[in-house]
Amino acid sequence: MRLASADPTVLPQVDPQFFGHPDDLRLAIAGLRYAREILATSPVREMVTQELFPGEKAASDEDLADHCRKTVKTNYHPVGTCRMGRDTDPLAVVAPDLAVRGIAGLRIVDASIMPTIPSGNTNAPVLAIAEKAVDIITGHARMFHEGATAPSNQVSSEPDQVHPS
Ligand SMILES: Cc1cc2nc3c(=O)[nH]c(=O)nc-3n(C[C@H](O)[C@H](O)[C@H](O)COP(=O)(O)OP(=O)(O)OC[C@H]3O[C@@H](n4cnc5c(N)ncnc54)[C@H](O)[C@@H]3O)c2cc1C
Repeated sequence: MRLASADPTVLPQVDPQFFGHPDDLRLAIAGLRYAREILATSPVREMVTQELFPGEKAASDEDLADHCRKTVKTNYHPVGTCRMGRDTDPLAVVAPDLAVRGIAGLRIVDASIMPTIPSGNTNAPVLAIAEKAVDIITGHARMFHEGATAPSNQVSSEPDQVHPS
């Protein structure tokens, strides 16, 4: 993900690097072939009249690769553009208290802080991140990493009760 311009109203450039590694394409082709095997196996076989996409004529690896390149997409769960991590992680934009490194008074609270994509869906983890953020901001959370400091615009409040987080 890159900035397209210093103008904050200009949308950023997002390149998901589809098939950026050759294994990704190999896996997609193998998946297509496996799907065909399933469709050619009873009892599914009896219910299938015709393969529409990419169609039976697409048989070679190159044909299937071409189809994959044309149809590749995400499954609505892009995450991790502002990865959270320890102070020692050079790729971590966000500290464990959700504060943006190098910018005082700014936290990120959304799916972009996920260090890696969860194997399940992403909406519930976002709610968990938000709940955790509330605890941190209101002072109810116990931080586990040393030297965690609150963003400078944090509203100070005495927690009513301290619970493990
Ligand atoms: C089609 C689709 C189906 C999905 N289905 C599921 C599902 O079934 N189950 C599941 O768990 N997850 C599902 N997800 C994923 C889930 O919706 C997301 O992971 C989750 O919503 C991410 O939360 P977020 O807060 O990070 O971002 P978002 O929910 O995208 O929230 C970002 C918010 O910021 C606002 N915004 C953007 N730019 C600005 C700006 N400049 N100023 C002010 N506000 C701004 C947007 O309007 C938006 O409200 C689906 C996603 C999609 C796209």
